[in-house]
Parts: sequence; structure tokens; C-alpha cells
Amino acid sequence: MEGTCHCKAVRITVAQKPEFLVSCNCSLCHRYGTLWCHYTPEKVTVECEESATKTYKWGDEMIDFHHCTSCGCVTHWTNTKNHPEPRVAVNARLFDRTEASDIKIRKFDGADSWRFIEE
Ligand SMILES: [Zn+2]
Repeated sequence: MEGTCHCKAVRITVAQKPEFLVSCNCSLCHRYGTLWCHYTPEKVTVECEESATKTYKWGDEMIDFHHCTSCGCVTHWTNTKNHPEPRVAVNARLFDRTEASDIKIRKFDGADSWRFIEE
């Protein structure tokens, strides 16, 4: 699957369609409105100029949240060296909405219990 930010400066390709998307309620994801799909780094290709994204970190600084400097879309996150294993998450809001509409969304309680909320 392939997605882009709104201005198309950032293009992201993932090797396979995600099994599910994660809606996290932590103080940051709640504000971003992102739907994350998680991968190992070799399954994700991010194509953009190095200056096309800016990053933001908070808390324990394990994750760099990238957003497009032009249109502002939150595109993906990469983990920093503080994180134990290499992971990348892509914001599924970048995918074509018709292609992503049938993917199950799981709610993650990142604000509190740090567990999935099963419904
Ligand atoms: Zn953009």
C-alpha cells in the first residue's frame, strides 16, 4: 500500500496491508487523530527530501514523530536510539481512504493502562 501527505512531498510505501490499525488515546495521538500501523523498518519505504519532515519527541523520547513541513500532515514515526527494538509506524490516514476503509481499528489505551481495549 502507498500513501502520501496532502501536498505529496512525503510518499510512504508499506510492504503489506496492515492487519489492523491502532487508534491510541495518549495525549499526543489523541490530538494528532492518527491511525497507526506498525512495521519493522525494512517493510517501510519513506520517500522524501530529508528536509521535508520535522520531528517531535516527548516523554521518554523513544519515538520521533515526523510531520511534513509543508502541509503539516503527521506521516510516520521512527524510534530513537532509546528504544529497544527498531520499529516504524505509518499514519494510515495517508492511505487512500477507500483502500484503508475495511481495515479493523483497535483502540489502544496509551493514556492509561497501555493495553488494547477490546470491544
Ligand atoms: Zn506535505
